[in-house]
Amino acid sequence: MKAELSKFKELPSLTKDGAEKLIEANIGSPLDVESVLENGGEGIGLFRSEFLYMDNDHFPTEDEQFESYKKVIDAMNGKLVVIRTLDIGGDKKLSYFEFPHEMNPFLGYRAIRFTLDRKDIFRDQIRALLRASAFGELGIMFPMIATIDEFKNAKAFVEECKAELDKEKIAYDKNVQVGMMVEIPAAAISADKFSKYADFFSIGTNDLIQYSMAADRMSENVTYLYQPTNPSILRLIKMTIEGAHKNNRWVGMCGEMAGDIQALPLLLGMGLDAFSMSATSMLRARSLMSKIEIKEAEELANKALDLETSEEVLALVDEFLAAK
Ligand code: PEP
Ligand code: MG
Repeated sequence: MKAELSKFKELPSLTKDGAEKLIEANIGSPLDVESVLENGGEGIGLFRSEFLYMDNDHFPTEDEQFESYKKVIDAMNGKLVVIRTLDIGGDKKLSYFEFPHEMNPFLGYRAIRFTLDRKDIFRDQIRALLRASAFGELGIMFPMIATIDEFKNAKAFVEECKAELDKEKIAYDKNVQVGMMVEIPAAAISADKFSKYADFFSIGTNDLIQYSMAADRMSENVTYLYQPTNPSILRLIKMTIEGAHKNNRWVGMCGEMAGDIQALPLLLGMGLDAFSMSATSMLRARSLMSKIEIKEAEELANKALDLETSEEVLALVDEFLAAK
């Protein structure tokens, strides 16, 4: 770790003018937490729970999941840990479960669509998460939410599991936050409505870009359409942030874009609250953040939102960054 960056390990994430933000990490396993702490992570913005399922030969039991979630929560020692419920399907397969054959698996039976349909599997996970919530600060996050009904149904299921635990006199955090990924354009466009129900949002730009551009994120033939700084994507991000803030909800980002240095000033300017990225990107982001004032970031973002192409936005940002 470079010396000039290592001083940021102990510092909070502040802009030059003192606005408080959070810089957190994405993880796929309890083993990743060590690197998060070594790199000064202020929380876990995304624990991709599907890896517990993919690295297994059976659906992990409630107890097996509880142990993994608790390990992460314990290690983070009171810092917020956001765990995403099973995001399986699409390109993510299980050796012990056959998904139905579909023409477009990325648009099919996956993530929250699967777990709402398979409450037996969902129950084990939600109960494990609730039990783990008794040991620290947990956020439960649903992936691939497209409609308000999906969110309400998933949230109602959490309530059902809470009632079960109450009956069984098993402890959990009654105030556990329940939020959602914003990674489908429909959710971004109506973020002001979703935020009446969700405690927080996390913008999943990997999928949000894929679905907005109708460009498969796995296809090498259309990578040119993968444009985080395309003004259309920036507008969706802005709508999401404004929609969250309208109901006083916090909004993070856990797609790759959150750790992209060229995107950071734009995201600050649009009002993003939390940035979740790979552990090794965190200190560089915190260092850059400390050199930027909110007002200049807002001016930059407003200009970018009015441009026509991703290239124009990148040129604008590069000019801004060159002066830092
Ligand atoms: C995303 O879509 O941006 C995201 C963080 O989820 P995943 O990459 O796991 O699909
Ligand atoms: Mg996603």
